[in-house]
Amino acid sequence: DTFDGDESGNFPPRQTPGVLYSKAIPTPVKNPELIAWSAELAEELQVQKPDDKDLSILGGNLITPSMYPYAACYAGHQFGNWAGQLGDGRAITLGEWETSNKTVYELQLKGAGPTQYSRRGDGRAVLRSSVREYLMSEAMFYLGIPTTRALALVSTGDQVMRDLFYDGNAAYEKGAIVMRTAPSFLRFGNFEMLAARQELPQLQKLTSWTIEKFFPHLTGENKTLAWFEEVVEQTASLMVEWIRVGFVHGVMNTDNMSILGLTIDYGPFSFLDQYDLEFTPNTTDLPGRRYAYGRQPSIGYWNLGCLASAIAPLFEETEQLSAALENYKTIYFAKYHAMMANKLGLDEFKPADQELIERVEKTLNLLKADMTIFYQLLISLPAETSTEESVSAHFSPSFYELPNKVTQQELYQTIKSYQKRISENQISTEASQELMRKTNPRFILRNYLLLQAIQELEKGDQTLFIKLQEAIKNPYAATQEEFFKLRPEWANDQPGSSTL
Ligand code: AMP
Ligand code: MG
Ligand code: MG
Repeated sequence: DTFDGDESGNFPPRQTPGVLYSKAIPTPVKNPELIAWSAELAEELQVQKPDDKDLSILGGNLITPSMYPYAACYAGHQFGNWAGQLGDGRAITLGEWETSNKTVYELQLKGAGPTQYSRRGDGRAVLRSSVREYLMSEAMFYLGIPTTRALALVSTGDQVMRDLFYDGNAAYEKGAIVMRTAPSFLRFGNFEMLAARQELPQLQKLTSWTIEKFFPHLTGENKTLAWFEEVVEQTASLMVEWIRVGFVHGVMNTDNMSILGLTIDYGPFSFLDQYDLEFTPNTTDLPGRRYAYGRQPSIGYWNLGCLASAIAPLFEETEQLSAALENYKTIYFAKYHAMMANKLGLDEFKPADQELIERVEKTLNLLKADMTIFYQLLISLPAETSTEESVSAHFSPSFYELPNKVTQQELYQTIKSYQKRISENQISTEASQELMRKTNPRFILRNYLLLQAIQELEKGDQTLFIKLQEAIKNPYAATQEEFFKLRPEWANDQPGSSTL
């Protein structure tokens, strides 16, 4: 983008044909204060923790000569509809950071003020949503799930307006900025933008650049096809991972789909408490439930279809491209079955196990049991259980409501077939349990915990927030038993978070 802003250095929202990104300068904030710092990520990045007096970079108040701040231009399909140009409306990349072992990280400030792509937004983020992104992206990292990460969280000292009431009064919240990192924040929507504008030379350029930079191992005749195949595979993997831990993203629009298969853009996400395939934390997605927990894998496929359409003009004939897209289903189910076998502690996935897996899911969905606690109890299930009552008693710590006669019987039958399958394992009980412990998290960052931590933080009490920062680091260990319990009743009706 060659536009340098108006006389005051501002960049009014506008369409930007012909460009992939635009220069964007963070708008300074009043009084940045450090709220959280990820020491482990800082070590990986080889950066030092700034002292409290110098938070100018994290607050967006200082641009050094080595930075090249910009906002990316992308488009997307939102809730199934083409939305046209979107772009980074409140995230500004400061530049790339290279460590001594040549690993490159894009450093981005989210909530750093308006860009060309802010449309009617203010370019800011509130403390509430920033705490959620900071904690959850780090939690996903420690769960072993591909994700963007968060290095720092600062409050800005400025107030941000989020709601305007009918009487004209406004609700203000504390402003905050997250510095987040990823090898790249490129999304499906970057490619869709160029295709929609029919800017084919740009589309080719971005594609070649992406392959060279992030998929350098790809060689051979048709690199673009091989690249798409890899994006299909990584997206399928990510969906399997979300299903594994009970994560619901909430806004799987194509502008929120990472080209590197990372979990990106933390908004109205939530973990499942009680198992429910229809669970939809994003209140703006009701009653359609397009992005419900159990629908995420098929949305992944739908979104890959948008990406395939976008890059189709780069192919002379698109048969192989279509085949690669269709292959998603095969890849997804292979990965999903392997993951479920691990979750259940099976020595391997056999075709006959599909029925068992479906049965477990159906039973869980019927019971609406707490997913995390249920799988933990499965690890400690005795080899044989004699009665319906004893099975029910074993799993009762995972129940939000007591099962009736029918569901109790259903659970019993499911557990019977599970125990039969486990008895055919060619691995030891210890090995099977170890597999389950590695696959089933014992600690998840439940929505009510986030809510509580944020409420306390806003009152000046950091205790729970600090506890959670530690708890996320060991999700598979039995080291934070105070959080190993059902969601409390007071939190029953809490939605994810629809206002960001
Ligand atoms: P999301 O639903 O979070 O993926 O956001 C969709 C689009 O809205 C993206 O282009 C965001 O950059 C933009 N956006 C979200 N919040 C704001 C905001 N407060 N100010 C400006 N742009 C925003
Ligand atoms: Mg987004
Ligand atoms: Mg967002």
